[in-house]
Amino acid sequence: MTRKIYNYCAVIGVDGMGNYNRQANTPNMDRIFADGATSYFTLSMDPTISAENWGAMLLGATPVVHGLTNGWISQNEYTNKALPSVFTRLRRAYPDAYLTSVVNWNPINHGIVEHDVGVDLATADNDELLQPMILERVAKKPKFLFVQFDDVDGAGHGGGYGSERHLQQIETSDHYIGEIWDAYEKAGIADDTLFIVLADHGGIRNGHGGYTEEERFVFLGIAGGSVMHAGIPHSATVDIAALVLYGLGLDVPEYDAKGFTSQIPENIFPDYDRPYRFVTPIPRDTIRRETPAPDGENGLFRFFPKDDLALAMCFDNDLTDATGKCSFKEYNTVKFYSNGVNGACAEMGLTGFVSTEDMKDVGKGSFTVAVWLNVDRSIHEDCVVCGNRDWWWGSRNANGFTFVQKNNDTVLSLGCPTDHDDFITPLPEDVESGWVHIIAAVDKEKNELRVYTDFAFTRSMPVNPVLLADNSAPTFFVGNDAGMESNTKEFPNIFRLDDLFIFNQAFTDEDAERLKAYYGL
Ligand SMILES: [Zn+2]
Repeated sequence: MTRKIYNYCAVIGVDGMGNYNRQANTPNMDRIFADGATSYFTLSMDPTISAENWGAMLLGATPVVHGLTNGWISQNEYTNKALPSVFTRLRRAYPDAYLTSVVNWNPINHGIVEHDVGVDLATADNDELLQPMILERVAKKPKFLFVQFDDVDGAGHGGGYGSERHLQQIETSDHYIGEIWDAYEKAGIADDTLFIVLADHGGIRNGHGGYTEEERFVFLGIAGGSVMHAGIPHSATVDIAALVLYGLGLDVPEYDAKGFTSQIPENIFPDYDRPYRFVTPIPRDTIRRETPAPDGENGLFRFFPKDDLALAMCFDNDLTDATGKCSFKEYNTVKFYSNGVNGACAEMGLTGFVSTEDMKDVGKGSFTVAVWLNVDRSIHEDCVVCGNRDWWWGSRNANGFTFVQKNNDTVLSLGCPTDHDDFITPLPEDVESGWVHIIAAVDKEKNELRVYTDFAFTRSMPVNPVLLADNSAPTFFVGNDAGMESNTKEFPNIFRLDDLFIFNQAFTDEDAERLKAYYGL
């Protein structure tokens, strides 16, 4: 059997679809892949998060190797010459080819696709606006078209994965996919196109990131003249790069555990005979436990009386305050991921944050911020986790506080109308990724700040009493500062946090031990 080299290839990604298309009415995917190769059990990379998986597809390497996260690709351009994307590999082989990437979630074009290899990059605010931009480009007969639809994932986060809303959005995507296929036929190149549809990950309840079947299994459909009519056995999102390169006539690079690990799965190309190397990804972060009911046997209020707390957000797929004292206004969309410390966690910053006016008195006396922070390479500059004060110069001399995460430090900043000071505590040197618990206790009797890292006393710092006179302010924010621009304009930070508790007194060593016991640690 001779190898068929396609002149064109299209990869259409449906963010957050998982294999939920099985439960939806998808006449277009059904007809496109009627004679093609399909799987409903292609593996999403661990963690089952967007950047990790779009990165795997386009770079042909696992998240451990490429290191990309949602936050990182929002802030940084991709410049790793040792691990080029399929766009760069195709450019080397086809100097004059038209290559295009049309994505709703722009961080893919910002931080995965290289900017120096002549790729036509396009983005839009929603899938509906994206669709005409895609069709326009298909008419130009691109050698390689990459598309990412994002609204299915939004519907999953918003209405639940597998919900009516989520399935309806999958049906809308199916309609778009049908139109794209028809545009290839209209352009007269459908027979010469390797056409691929897949999801980056699925989801469960309102989130993803963990390794349940609902999150890790995704649909993969491949159509093309030489593609076998078969079920695809073991396959993974990382295999897309190899499929694109092989389809368009390039050699698939040798398997390299520290680099390119993308392979051609079996049952796709009858002529391809390199054996598929089975690699079972080992889940990195697993859910330690569900959050115990606050009033229940191992619940938070058994360890700390409810009145000691001003706020207790557990982020288990919602924004409720377990104390019942605060209600929140949401800006944009806060996303939830299932790989939190206790149940799910929240992703905040650029894509969403919240405010409440129910914490006006917090900061008048001593107080403590306790929170789990996910440390990854995405936090490069000031990332405001929570607080009631504007973080930016000029507005910093105001009553209040701001709790900030940097890539190597946390900062508690305290202010009064005439002054402010930033109290910096380095994160442990051995922590490169994963969850770290931070406690920042503001003690107004001793005029000091005490910081605990993973429940162990780290340092105390004396604080000028003028800064401690009154740290209250009208509005409290989580995921941004009071100017509402830190994480959205100044630095487009995306970060994950779990269990944000604000206490009405300054934590002691004993309190830190008690909180540790609450987590069963
Ligand atoms: Zn995604």
